[in-house]
Amino acid sequence: MAEKVSIEKKVLSKNDQIAAEIRAGLEKQGIVTLNLVSSPGSGKTSLLERTLGALNDKLKMALIAGDVQTVNDARRLTRAGGKIVRPLVTGGACHLDAQMVKKVLEKINLAGTDVLLIENVGNLVCPSSYDLGEDLKVVLISTTEGDDKPLKYPAMFRRSSAMILNKIDLLGMSNFNPEQVKKNALSINPHLTIFETSCTKGTGLDAWYNWLLELVKAKKAGKS
Ligand code: MG
Ligand code: ZN
Repeated sequence: MAEKVSIEKKVLSKNDQIAAEIRAGLEKQGIVTLNLVSSPGSGKTSLLERTLGALNDKLKMALIAGDVQTVNDARRLTRAGGKIVRPLVTGGACHLDAQMVKKVLEKINLAGTDVLLIENVGNLVCPSSYDLGEDLKVVLISTTEGDDKPLKYPAMFRRSSAMILNKIDLLGMSNFNPEQVKKNALSINPHLTIFETSCTKGTGLDAWYNWLLELVKAKKAGKS
């Protein structure tokens, strides 16, 4: 057991080292980088499709679509107007790690990019431990899930800066309580910025777009 723990620690410290290199490189280029995490099916790809549709003229965005198998999400994002979209198929691994992201980034020309959006593998457990060099994590949770998820997966909610409560158009179809999920999430992390959206209907997204635009502005102000 002790040995297992120490191997895990080694893997993570190696990961953190690579993540720090990635972060330094992106920082130098003034790129805001977000790591999108959630359970499978919470709407990460739909959120990115909407974001491309709304902000493609205002921001130069690069996207990395992580999945265990298939490049379906990357295809969807390209169809949605993404100019720089790269699939990252883990081939079995249930999370992205910094080395995988580094390999993808080595093959992208990010000159002039404002925002790098990384869609992680749908999983609320280990993606919380693997730093990818992002500025912030954004966690999605949808109204078709349990409203106690922030309590069940506290590390993910603690390490995220924003929470997107998605599929609000389906409220009332189950016993999901939006006030309860917000209360649970804020009990884990009182600093969470919370958005309530429906990515299929396109509601509640302006606040998210503005938040993203503000992050870009702040990054540019910090650089100049
Ligand atoms: Mg997806
Ligand atoms: Zn994993």
